[in-house]
Amino acid sequence: MDDLIAFLRARLDDDEQLGEIHKPDCDARIPYEWEFVCRCGLPARRSGDIAAKREVIKFAAWLDQNRAGSEFMEGRAQSARHVLRLLALPYADHPDYREEWRPGDQSAAHS
Ligand SMILES: [Zn+2]
Repeated sequence: MDDLIAFLRARLDDDEQLGEIHKPDCDARIPYEWEFVCRCGLPARRSGDIAAKREVIKFAAWLDQNRAGSEFMEGRAQSARHVLRLLALPYADHPDYREEWRPGDQSAAHS
């Protein structure tokens, strides 16, 4: 799971670098220092979305690290792994994406 977590963290870092404009002709675009930002709310939501995903990843990593010796925790870690695979799916066209991460049937993830 470490590789999937590293992959997701790298993609979120990439997304964060995309900047403060969601489209060049956004009506809410205003000049800011040497570039433009838009105040339509989408960049703020995107930033919040990235932060929320980082927390999901952190929680999944914690579950994975604390699953040993507990059937209950193992089950939770497997569910978290499925969630991470779903989060990785939008990046399936990235060269570092592995087909083995593609989420299957959730009931299969627990077998
Ligand atoms: Zn905008």
